[in-house]
Amino acid sequence: MLIAEKIISKQFKAKTMKQAYLECCKWISTNIIAKNNSKNISYSIKKNESSGIGCVELEVYVFADEKEVFEHNCEICKEFAGAFFNKENKYRCEVCKTPPYRKRLETKLETLKNGMGDFMKGLKKL
Ligand SMILES: [Zn+2]
Repeated sequence: MLIAEKIISKQFKAKTMKQAYLECCKWISTNIIAKNNSKNISYSIKKNESSGIGCVELEVYVFADEKEVFEHNCEICKEFAGAFFNKENKYRCEVCKTPPYRKRLETKLETLKNGMGDFMKGLKKL
């Protein structure tokens, strides 16, 4: 599971939507792919049809895999429990509440995927 934070947003305007989109792709290619090969960087490109001309909006995100952070966090919970010879073998996770939070995020993603129905089926065929 990835966790992302928006770092910039940018608009590309041109005479047509296609041109605006191509300019956006060119910008990504020059400024992101060529420089760090999209390492920990993700983007979203949306058409903005309200302005009446070609306009696309780019949002750039930095992302991390939360699994690593989660596992490290709960290692600390385990160590903490161990240090106090907790006979009931309960981890401090009862206090950190990370596992139930993570479970809710996973459920949320599952719901989103299920809601995308045909769109998801189409993608998987590619
Ligand atoms: Zn924990």
